[in-house]
Order: sequence, then C-alpha cells, then structure tokens
Amino acid sequence: MIPAPFEYHAPKTLEEALRLVERHGDEAKLLAGGHSLLPLMKLRLAAPRYVIDIGRVRGMSYIREENGRIAIGALTTHAEIAGSSLLLSKCPLLPETAAEIGDLQVRNRGTLGGSLAHADPAADYPAAILALDAEIVAASTGGTRTIPAEEFFVDMLTTQLRPGEILSQVRVPALAPRTGTAYAKLHQPASGFAIVGVAARITVNQGEIEDVAVGITGLGPKAYRARAVEKALRGKKLATKLLADAARCAAQGVEPLSDLHASADYRREMAAVFTRRALGRALVRAQGKKA
Ligand SMILES: Cc1cc2nc3c(=O)[nH]c(=O)nc-3n(C[C@H](O)[C@H](O)[C@H](O)COP(=O)(O)OP(=O)(O)OC[C@H]3O[C@@H](n4cnc5c(N)ncnc54)[C@H](O)[C@@H]3O)c2cc1C
Repeated sequence: MIPAPFEYHAPKTLEEALRLVERHGDEAKLLAGGHSLLPLMKLRLAAPRYVIDIGRVRGMSYIREENGRIAIGALTTHAEIAGSSLLLSKCPLLPETAAEIGDLQVRNRGTLGGSLAHADPAADYPAAILALDAEIVAASTGGTRTIPAEEFFVDMLTTQLRPGEILSQVRVPALAPRTGTAYAKLHQPASGFAIVGVAARITVNQGEIEDVAVGITGLGPKAYRARAVEKALRGKKLATKLLADAARCAAQGVEPLSDLHASADYRREMAAVFTRRALGRALVRAQGKKA
C-alpha cells in the first residue's frame, strides 16, 4: 500500500522541528520510529500533508541521571531501554516492559516518545509509566511543560500533548529501598501487543505493604492506575490471599474493550490474573529475592 503524497522535512535540531510543527499545525505529523505512523499512512488512515521526520534530531536519544531522577530522551528506542545498564540497576520496570514490545525489528526502530504520544490502548509503556509516577516533558517554541503520567493519557490515541508540542523527555524515579517492580503481559500472538499488561510497584516494610502502584494497559480505551487494587493493599499486613483478593478489583470502574482478539469478559478475567502475577513478582523482588 502506498501512502498519500506528503512533503517531507528532516530537521536536525529540536528548535527547527518545533518551528515546523508550529508552522504546519494539524496538517503535519511527526515521524519518529515510524512503526505506528507508517502503517496508518499506508492504509490511508492517516494522510498528513507534511511529515516531519525527527529521527535525525540531535540530542534526543539518551538515558542519564538528572537531579535524582532518570531522564530518557524521546527518541530512545525500545531496544536501548531494554539494554540500559543504568535503568536495569535503578529502574528495572522500564527495561522489563521494553523487552516485551513487539519483535526485535520493532524494538530497534520504535521509540519511547513515539509510543507514548501515539497512546495505543494496547501499548506496553503506558502501564509502566503510570506505575512509576513518571513525568512527561512537552516542548514547544514557548518553552517546556511537565505532565504527570496520570494526566497524560486522555483517551484512545489521545494525550495531553497540544498542537505544536513535541514530547521531548520522560523522567522516571530510581527504585526506592525495599521496593520491587514487575510487568506481566498477555500477548496478542500475532503482533505482540498487550491484550492485558500490568505493571506493579510494591514497597514493603516490616511485613506490611507500605506503598503500591499498579498500571494497567490493554483493558480499556486508555491505560489507567488500578486505584481499587492499590487501596486493597496499601498498609496491609502480608497474608496468603491478600494479593489474589486485591487483584480481583483490577477492572473496577473500567469498561473493558471487546474485539476480535478478546471479549470484554475475557479481558476482565485476564486483568485479575495478570495483576496477581505482576504483584506477586514485584513483592518477591521487594523482599530481595529472585523472581
Ligand atoms: C509489528 C508491530 C508490533 C508491535 N508490537 C508492539 C507491542 O507489543 N507493544 C507496544 O507497545 N507497541 C508495539 N508496536 C508499536 C511500536 O512500539 C511503535 O514503535 C510505537 O508505538 C510508536 O513509536 P514510533 O517511534 O515508531 O512512532 P511513530 O510511528 O513514528 O509515531 C507514532 C505517533 O506518535 C507521534 N510522535 C512520534 N514521536 C513523537 C514525539 N516525540 N512527540 C510527539 N509526537 C510524536 C507521531 O506523529 C505519530 O502520530 C508494534 C508495532 C508493530 C509495527
């Protein structure tokens, strides 16, 4: 399939890219890894008049410590995140999640910024970004603003990004003491996208769950924090059925999607199963054991 004709721009700097998106507004689309945009253009579900390829913009691909957080440039690929020794030691949830995305080719081209900006309801990162309480930096010609992860996802394929903004950076915290994280995913067998994906972060203290965060993707039109699960666990003494009972609230307040891959009932059931698995692995890691 051949995309509709478009004018191609390949800016070398973020400033140049920002001026182009400001000038062309709704008629322009940014191109990063191209693994979501190009299929849409080839199917003519997207027909932008201007394609602004940010793939050659300098200084947008990095993973580094900044002011006690880990800052990741928007053009950092899934493969770079999966293999980052800094993230593996200080924020292992993100590499664990990145390693679950698509196949090798997708991980070598697809970018963190592209995945978050696209906001596919079955994408993996949103669950982890929510569980980590990450911050997303949006740049425009007027400067930058920081958006908390929980406010970033608005609806299916819709985020808080405004026209003229480019997602430039994501900031995640380093793992706190006595904390474990895990990502558990039910793959759609053909594409690898998540039918359900659950990211969990648990902090334990003297036999109690001191803090917990659960992000769920794939179930509804946008990824969300499973507040009912968190409420059922926070401050509770560890006990045999605690995690399984809490995991049953995974779909509370969400209308699950139903499509050719999975019915709403199946997704709801799998949300509980994979929440239980993610919590279990995160807890074992928080206790300093291998999972
Ligand atoms: C076969 C296949 C399997 C896949 N499997 C999975 C999977 O299992 N899990 C998963 O999560 N994803 C999966 N994906 C999607 C993949 O991860 C994409 O790479 C990702 O969703 C988009 O990233 P990209 O860099 O390719 O963005 P692009 O396709 O270049 O762009 C996507 C959208 O985001 C916008 N955009 C890009 N960068 C920015 C930015 N910095 N600021 C603002 N807007 C921006 C673009 O304009 C476009 O609208 C799969 C894709 C394919 C083709």
